[in-house]
Amino acid sequence: MQTLTLEQEINPWEAQAARFDFAAQKLNLDDGLWKVLRYPARELIVHFPVSMDDGSIEVFTGYRVQHSIARGPAKGGIRYAPDVTLDEVRALASWMTWKCAVVNIPFGGAKGGVICDPKKMSIGELERMTRRYTAELIEFIGPEKDVPAPDMNTNEQVMAWIMDTYSMHMRQTVTAVVTGKPLNIGGSRGRREATGRGIGIVCDEALRYLHLQRDGCRVIIQGFGNVGSNAAKLMMDKGYKIVGIAEYDGGLYNTNGIDIHQLVEYRQRNGTVLGFKGAEAADPQELILEECEIFIPAATENVLTSRNVDRLKAKIVCEGANGPTTAVADEILADKKVFVIPDILANAGGVTASYFEWVQDRQGYFWKESVVNEQLESILAESFDDVVRYSEAHGVNNRIAAYMLAIDRVSFTIKQRGIYA
Ligand code: GLU
Repeated sequence: MQTLTLEQEINPWEAQAARFDFAAQKLNLDDGLWKVLRYPARELIVHFPVSMDDGSIEVFTGYRVQHSIARGPAKGGIRYAPDVTLDEVRALASWMTWKCAVVNIPFGGAKGGVICDPKKMSIGELERMTRRYTAELIEFIGPEKDVPAPDMNTNEQVMAWIMDTYSMHMRQTVTAVVTGKPLNIGGSRGRREATGRGIGIVCDEALRYLHLQRDGCRVIIQGFGNVGSNAAKLMMDKGYKIVGIAEYDGGLYNTNGIDIHQLVEYRQRNGTVLGFKGAEAADPQELILEECEIFIPAATENVLTSRNVDRLKAKIVCEGANGPTTAVADEILADKKVFVIPDILANAGGVTASYFEWVQDRQGYFWKESVVNEQLESILAESFDDVVRYSEAHGVNNRIAAYMLAIDRVSFTIKQRGIYA
């Protein structure tokens, strides 16, 4: 791989492109298909006004990028954050294409984002911003076109507003336009926990593959949002020992394991994990490098970089977040023989359950939670197997294997469909 400056190293688009180029080269990907898949197919930028609570008008910038619709409708979340950039949304959209292909579900890839600080906005402002952003995207999205879902700082309520706004424009209720909705309006049982559950499933598979024991296996998790907290809870229940939780404002450490059920309750009451009595306070930047079997970055991008990854002590890195490891850090992890479960496999449980939700909405027939969980388990276990077999067959690490598998599947589809002229 080419040498990158630190600025390039932490640019998610560069991180995506570096892995894509490497995997495409290993696959001997046809030049034309390489050009088709390297860049997103469509990018929409919108600047739209919202009435704020104090009577003023604010203009927000939003993006929706569709990387590919070759295998089906574009699919991917919408994030709200002050530092959203077009390059980030592009990278995340491409990752969705690869992720859906790795788990072999019939979707392409997309992502959206609005530059805003949701922590400083009222519920009313968030609702008006969400509805206007949806209206701006109205021709771009739809059950057969592009199906958004939650991502950083968006949730079931935001999806309900998007569904309602889209439905008002269509003059009929269209539940399948978004996934990750509340249960009552077309949501799927098990969707909320699915990303965290998927992380537990691929960790089980990794332990089996590496002949390691699950009981007492020490886990450190960065991030205690939807993904991190559900992974922690479900993994603790299976016998993993969650020794560390690192949040943006502080960390918790307990060699005997943290009681995650108590911690979830504590956080609900206090709005933070800090001050929890069942563990010691720890510096979050140091905590993520502590001794453990599994480290799960489940917060944000660029957590493991060339600056800290040489000090990482975990044997397995299971990426709950999208893009937590830079391409340069990948090479160092490979030298250290760390077993990486890459984001496009590790956190694919979310979009897999989104696929189930979309299917249920279109059928108008809703599954029991046990059916969702069983289907999820079988898809993720099979995908894990596909990735490690690919890695063995081609002598590459798991991430490059996952990219190769995904690029192979998407490019095969494009070849079969042919290029429309
Ligand atoms: N935002 C999630 C992801 O990055 C979920 C996407 C979806 O369910 O469409 O995978």
